[in-house]
Amino acid sequence: MSEVFARYREAQQDISRGVLDGLSNTMGGLDFTRIDASAPAWVAASSAVVQRGYQEAVTAGSDFLTDFANEGAIPKRFQLKPATLDSKLVVTSLVTLGPYRAKHLMAQGYDIDRAIREVFTAVSGAGMRHAMAGMRETVTNTSKTYTRVRRIAKEGACGFCAMLATKDYWIPSDQEPATSAAAVVVGRSGRTRGPQSLGAQYHDGCKCTVQPVSDELQPEGYENQLEKFEDAYYEARRRAEDREGGAAVGKNVIREMDKLRREGWF
Ligand SMILES: [Zn+2]
Repeated sequence: MSEVFARYREAQQDISRGVLDGLSNTMGGLDFTRIDASAPAWVAASSAVVQRGYQEAVTAGSDFLTDFANEGAIPKRFQLKPATLDSKLVVTSLVTLGPYRAKHLMAQGYDIDRAIREVFTAVSGAGMRHAMAGMRETVTNTSKTYTRVRRIAKEGACGFCAMLATKDYWIPSDQEPATSAAAVVVGRSGRTRGPQSLGAQYHDGCKCTVQPVSDELQPEGYENQLEKFEDAYYEARRRAEDREGGAAVGKNVIREMDKLRREGWF
């Protein structure tokens, strides 16, 4: 099964790289000395790049669902629910991070090269995230008809991702995923967490993948990785509570998680 996860990550990287290259090509079309005049063509070209990446991501997500179905995580004859892109959202995001931000930076006296670099970083980060939603949403929407969906974070992921990765359920192997998904399932360590809310919770450059929950279907060694995330989460919450003298605020828990990551907890 390991090779499926390796390919899954690789596909995600390839699509990201394609979007990055595409946006790097269109970047020259945004003329920082004539922002308003060059913006419409730049937006059209750049949103085409993101949409192409999104469609590739939907296709890749569908392929992995077939793999997951073959592994029994979802039925063999699953009903595919391909994600659909709201292209208006992409355009809004590109306009805001592109021409709009470019004008703002230029007005602040940034030199052109630095402004271009800043704009490109923001635009490409958002573009890759939008494209990747095609894969994440296709896998999520299709899988959740049958079971829960979990977020898989990489070793050394940021505190935010590590925290969210622990918010899923383990399904005992003697239960049918479809029925047990509705029940509370206890984690390996006996601790339970609420279901994770998936959707917009992926940051730019996020390497997390999503997949149907199954105790047998996970990257090799992930159980141990997840234990580390989980231990860190409880420690982070404890530290945040100590600091605040009460219930910890989410963002403070994430800050503690990031500290624990630097301390080598995960
Ligand atoms: Zn992250």
